[in-house]
Amino acid sequence: MSRDIKMCHPRLQEKAEKLITECAKQGLIVKLGECFRSAAEQDALYAQGRTKPGNIVTNARGSSYSSMHQWGIAFDVIRNDGKGAYNNSDNWFQKVGKIGRSLGLEWGGDWTSPVDMPHFQLPDWGSTPTRLKQLYGTVNTFKRTWEVDEMTEAQVREIAKKEANDMVYKYRDKVYNKISEVPEWGKATVQKLYDKGILKGTEKGLEISETLLRLLVINDRAGLYN
Ligand SMILES: [Zn+2]
Repeated sequence: MSRDIKMCHPRLQEKAEKLITECAKQGLIVKLGECFRSAAEQDALYAQGRTKPGNIVTNARGSSYSSMHQWGIAFDVIRNDGKGAYNNSDNWFQKVGKIGRSLGLEWGGDWTSPVDMPHFQLPDWGSTPTRLKQLYGTVNTFKRTWEVDEMTEAQVREIAKKEANDMVYKYRDKVYNKISEVPEWGKATVQKLYDKGILKGTEKGLEISETLLRLLVINDRAGLYN
């Protein structure tokens, strides 16, 4: 469903909502058009004017993931006051563009080639998907970061702590059962996690493997257990 903003990045959803509200305050009635576009939908659009009737509207094939709409970080707006969806006789799109820009969105009307006045996107990864492709490869991988992006630091810490405790029982290389057995470079970390109740151990003792110990120390140095 290309019109479903709920399929887009949570931060884009927030900004789309704000844009609609802020525009309404100035009498600009905005409706969302294209939002998330699947590869199949992008291919159908690419076929238009080539193998199917109509004018050519895009140079991006679905498989190339070169439309920001396919990455869930772009939406288009249309004018919804009954004067025509793309009527710009009173600089309607410039007014909406200015508000979008003030909300931290990149506006397609600021581009030179092509100028795309109905288009807005999150600015974090540049104007084109080049960087997204390098960083994540596929849209699905990118999507997994959306949730993390919305997590607070406290939530990230909470997960790191839980993993530390869960992983104690997964690794079975060299195992330390007492703090006195732990090498010097890991003692302070183990003591800290034990004191905080994050490491509980089993009836055999702490049961910390060498592999886990390294991970715990790295996390500790990164400040995750502070
Ligand atoms: Zn667009």
